[in-house]
Amino acid sequence: MLFTSVLAGLALAGAASARVEDLPRHLRLAYRDLVNTTSTNGNNASLPKIVYFGTGGTIAGSSGSATAVTGYQAGALGVQTLIDAVPEIINITNIIGIQFANVASDQMNTTLTMQLSRNISEYLAADDVVGAVVSHGTDTLEETAIMLDLTIKSDKPVVIVGAMRPATAISADGPYNLLQAVSLATYPGAAGRGTMITLNDRIGSAFYTTKTNPRSLDTFKAYEQGYLGNFVGATPRFWYEPAKVLNKPYFDVTNFTTLPHVAILYAYEDMALDVPLVSAAIASGVKGLVIAGSGDGGTDSTWNRQFQSLCANASVAMVVSTRTGDGSDAPDGDSSPTISANSLNPEKAKIMLQLSLAKNGYNITAIKKDFDSDYPTLG
Ligand code: ASP
Repeated sequence: MLFTSVLAGLALAGAASARVEDLPRHLRLAYRDLVNTTSTNGNNASLPKIVYFGTGGTIAGSSGSATAVTGYQAGALGVQTLIDAVPEIINITNIIGIQFANVASDQMNTTLTMQLSRNISEYLAADDVVGAVVSHGTDTLEETAIMLDLTIKSDKPVVIVGAMRPATAISADGPYNLLQAVSLATYPGAAGRGTMITLNDRIGSAFYTTKTNPRSLDTFKAYEQGYLGNFVGATPRFWYEPAKVLNKPYFDVTNFTTLPHVAILYAYEDMALDVPLVSAAIASGVKGLVIAGSGDGGTDSTWNRQFQSLCANASVAMVVSTRTGDGSDAPDGDSSPTISANSLNPEKAKIMLQLSLAKNGYNITAIKKDFDSDYPTLG
């Protein structure tokens, strides 16, 4: 029954194609892995029940060498193997494991992550399920995390976890990270905090936490907003009462299988030479563009003038973020044609813009309101 509901969900994601062979590669992979999957239940029905969706990544990665931390195959091991590697998990939870996909995170996309969101919501609606865990490749983990944060209404904890060393490495970080994620999803004090990212003993908000280093285990950080808490062993310890991002919008993705196409453009010296990139993006059919601006959303003024007029003529929404890796852009006034990403980095702003465009269409005032969530004074 559990298995069937996920299968039905994925079939929905690829509803436009009649046959599995016609699906894009990432959906075929997800479908194939799902077909080969069995759902797993922990032993003790008296323990809190959680649902665990495996999607692949380094946490499920395998290499022929115990010292290799590059060049391994991400998404090689299934959820059952990952759970079996940490027997302590079934001492604290009655776990339902579901192989949603088994891919490196570059194969995840918004069609899949909206489907994941719907599947999680479906499970969290059950009275006896107390929380959800997702394991994911770390490269795009924060994008899936903000998608879940913006589209799941439940107050039950949703925890997304990854690892920086493949499961076959000496001192692999995945098993402990997974145990902590499961522990967090069953922890009563974790409710009402939105989707959380956890790796390396830290608990962060999905809205703000970002990958800051391609190698280090301590890579997920939110410098400006900080962590929500940490772990002592496998026990979560929060710094604050349950809190959510101020005025965070909610997007209902029940009926979406795809989102409007949004691309990201990066700011740099000499970018005035590259106005054709804007034209090419518009010609490719984007409905929105996010600028990873220098400093406070800065771009070359010649480029910016042409950018604004090309986008306005094509009704393409313009969001301005920062390439600095932290902080927020000054909010744009109501009359500005551009939309400030506020505290969202470019990749998170892209997800927000896609969801906002799907909800509002090309309505700049409404899109600004979604982005102004942590600047409520602009209303
Ligand atoms: N390339 C891997 C992925 O994102 C990296 C990781 O999981 O850490 O799937």
